[in-house]
Amino acid sequence: MCGYHHCPARTSDRLLTVLNCDLHCHSTCSDGLLPATEVARRAAGNGVDMLALTDHDDLGGLAAAREVAEAAGMAFVNGVEISIEWERLQIHILGLSFEVTDPALSAGLASVRSGRIERARRMSAELEKVGIDGAFEGAMRHAANPSLISRSHFGRYLVEVGVCKDVRSVFESYLVPGRPGYVEHRWATLADSVQWILGAGGVAAVAHPGRYKLSRADMRRFLGEFKDLGGQAIEVMSGSHTPEHIDLYGRLAREYGFLASRGSDFHGPGESYVDLGNLAPLPEGLQPIWEAF
Ligand code: AMP
Ligand code: MN
Ligand code: MN
Ligand code: MN
Repeated sequence: MCGYHHCPARTSDRLLTVLNCDLHCHSTCSDGLLPATEVARRAAGNGVDMLALTDHDDLGGLAAAREVAEAAGMAFVNGVEISIEWERLQIHILGLSFEVTDPALSAGLASVRSGRIERARRMSAELEKVGIDGAFEGAMRHAANPSLISRSHFGRYLVEVGVCKDVRSVFESYLVPGRPGYVEHRWATLADSVQWILGAGGVAAVAHPGRYKLSRADMRRFLGEFKDLGGQAIEVMSGSHTPEHIDLYGRLAREYGFLASRGSDFHGPGESYVDLGNLAPLPEGLQPIWEAF
């Protein structure tokens, strides 16, 4: 038994663990389907206690999402999901709870965005070779923020013109390494991304580690480098993680001393693994990232 006077800290740790924190989702500022304000309203409606909007490489939705979140009584945390390249693999690093006005972070994100339009033209040229015309213009019609043109917008265009039945099947046959429409691209480095986040007073977390095609040994090397650079956390609960991923990354978080994050990676109704706030709680025995905010 744990009497209140003897161990209030343990009681509050447990309360912190079960808070419904969703620290990974997208709006139309990147490749989400809902405007930032709608994302925040939906999170509140789903019972989220603490929300971070984490658009790809862009901070444009944060102010509007914060206003709606706070009016609805939710805690709101600034977030971003930075596209990086590590040993020719595209990896995503989450920045959380940083100062939104930090000039070096803004400049770094602008540099990541600047290559996207040119990449999109090259993707479109590759799709043309397999008989899919007009993909650049078609994808752009799906992008509310043209500087954030992404493979998701191309995916929606391929569904629109009947090439695939849904966006998930697009990523099985197109837009990934070895398939039509994929082009190599130079993103930020791991060191850049962590430095921008830490420099802005934030916490850096590896997004959905279960999704990268890395051997166990390479994953360990990656996590070691990330930690040496100052990275503090990994997503353990993610909308795209299987029970095996949750078990593995829970163990690796403990082993490396990483804080554990929890995020749905919601992109929109009908296009996501889980809805906002609808993930299981963090497994016990992990230190929630939100204790560091
Ligand atoms: P980009 O940043 O332009 O390379 O686009 C990457 C985005 O494509 C991710 O953020 C996801 O939203 C989406 N994506 C990547 N792989 C898949 C997949 N297998 N199924 C559905 N969406 C995916
Ligand atoms: Mn995305
Ligand atoms: Mn991602
Ligand atoms: Mn994401």
